[in-house]
Amino acid sequence: MLYLVATPIGNLEDISLRALNTLRSVDLIAAEDTRHTSKLLMHFDIKKPLVSYHEHNKDSLGEVLIGKLKNGESIAYVTDAGTPGISDPGEDLVKLAIENGIEYTLIPGPCALIMGAVLSGFNTRSFVFEGFLPQDKKKRKEVLERISNEKRTLVFYAPPHHILSTLKEMKEYVGDRQICLARELTKKFEELKWGSVDSLIEFYEENNPRGEFVIVIEGAREVEQVNEYEDDEIFKMVNDKIEKGHKRNNAIKEVAKETNLSRNDVYAIYEKKKGTIL
Ligand code: SAM
Repeated sequence: MLYLVATPIGNLEDISLRALNTLRSVDLIAAEDTRHTSKLLMHFDIKKPLVSYHEHNKDSLGEVLIGKLKNGESIAYVTDAGTPGISDPGEDLVKLAIENGIEYTLIPGPCALIMGAVLSGFNTRSFVFEGFLPQDKKKRKEVLERISNEKRTLVFYAPPHHILSTLKEMKEYVGDRQICLARELTKKFEELKWGSVDSLIEFYEENNPRGEFVIVIEGAREVEQVNEYEDDEIFKMVNDKIEKGHKRNNAIKEVAKETNLSRNDVYAIYEKKKGTIL
């Protein structure tokens, strides 16, 4: 059986009893970074064989782990912090377990994205997690362009040395929406900072961003459709088309396209005006 085990994102007291029991009971612990995880295990006095499973050895080590699991061994997988599978190699291990019919589960626990989203106070009934911005320029641009029209709250991860450049890159896409920077969550210097993109850029130009950050962006507001056409104009546009031989519904559809109004609106205006003219 494979256990993905969530570990603290800063405060060691956030480890769950189930996480500790699982780490104590498995045959082997696979870790994203064995040095990092050794400290956690030492703190809780857990002595277990450790192997590393990370971005650069996941193909070869993945097969080894699957072999062991097929032989009936139990393995726990922990990443450097938080919930394995969220922006870390845990995702690949889950896929591998599914492909190989291995029984697996997650021992739930801390997750920076959830904590950042909740503490931001923005709408969390539905939100979008984008993780780290892609390194590839084209893909990065695609993600950034999605920000402009996204009505749901957006959550990003970013390393501290990229905070300022990421905010600068986001500038032209976020408009005047509020951003919440959730820093050092669960740690001694946990901090939440809200502001417009410009005010946050200004702040971090003067204060070096330190620690770990979650970037939460308020969703784009609905833009009220401004109708720049008078009802008379709309009526005339539809009527002209009908006189030129268009069917009524087709004329309405064409005018809706030309004016950016909905078909229902054009229909309602046309019928209302027709009623007053006839
Ligand atoms: N799997 C982890 C989780 O469940 O949150 C995330 C792993 S990802 C490789 C690491 C990123 O998570 C960091 O760059 C940072 O954006 C965010 N992060 C992790 N711990 C954090 C903390 N204590 N405060 C704020 N952000 C944190």
